[in-house]
Amino acid sequence: MKIYMITDLEGVAGVARWDQTGTDQPGYAQATRLMTEEVRACVAGIQSVEADAEIWVWDAHGPGSIDLERFPSGALLLNRGPIDPPAFLDGSFDAVFFLGQHAKAGTRNGNLAHTYSSQSYAWFKINGLELGEFGCRAALAGSMGVPTLFVSGDDTMIAEARALIPDIYGAQVKIGLGPQLALHLAPEDARDLIRDTSADAASALFTAQAGEIEPFVIDGPPYEQEIRIAGRTDPNPLLRQGFAQVDALTFVKRAERLQDLHI
Ligand SMILES: [Zn+2]
Repeated sequence: MKIYMITDLEGVAGVARWDQTGTDQPGYAQATRLMTEEVRACVAGIQSVEADAEIWVWDAHGPGSIDLERFPSGALLLNRGPIDPPAFLDGSFDAVFFLGQHAKAGTRNGNLAHTYSSQSYAWFKINGLELGEFGCRAALAGSMGVPTLFVSGDDTMIAEARALIPDIYGAQVKIGLGPQLALHLAPEDARDLIRDTSADAASALFTAQAGEIEPFVIDGPPYEQEIRIAGRTDPNPLLRQGFAQVDALTFVKRAERLQDLHI
C-alpha cells in the first residue's frame, strides 16, 4: 500500500501553546521531539500491517516539526515547504493520513485552532462548505480519488473530521479546553493510541475491496473558494493568486482543480 501522511504540530499531545510552535520559541525543540515520536508511532502502525508499505510523510507545519534524526526507517520524508499544492499528492496513493492536526479557526475550545495561518484568516469555504486545513486537503485528495482514512488531534479536530468523513479512524490525544489549553494524554499513551489506530486504519485498507473505502468529495468542478481574512491581513498575496475582492475582507476564486485554489 502507498500512504500519504500529512503532519502538523498543533494537534500533538503535549503541545498546546503558540510558544511551542515557532522555531524561535522556547518550547519548539521539545514539541518537535513529541511530534516526531508520534510520526514514528503512526508509521509503525502501518508497517505492522504491511512491513514494506510505501509511506510518504509531508512535514506540513510552517517551519517544519520533524526531528530529522528520529525520522522512522522505511518511510520517506517530504521536507517542509514552500511546496505548492498538491504537494506531490496524486491518484497513485491508496490513502491519506493526517497526524497532529488542529481544528479550523473559530472552533470552540479547539486547541491551537486556526485555518492555514494563526493570524491571517477567519474562514475558508469551498462551494459554500466551510473547511479547515483538514477538510481542504481531504477534499483535494478526494478529487484525485484518494480516501482520507486517519486523523489524530484533539477532540474538536476528531469531531470536525467525523462531520465530513463519519468512518474515519480517529486518535484523540487531547481534549481541547481553550485556544492554548488542553487536557493531554501522556506522550507514551498518545503514541500507543496512534500506533493502534493507524494499524486499524491500515488493516481496513489492506482488506478492503476496490471502491469500498470512498474518498471525501465535494461537488465540482468547478470549485469556488471564498476566504475571509482578518483585519490586519495583507490581501496582496491572495490577489496575486487570482482571487477577486468581494468586500473589505472577503476574496473569491474559481478553478477547475482544487489544487489551483488556496489549499
Ligand atoms: Zn502547524
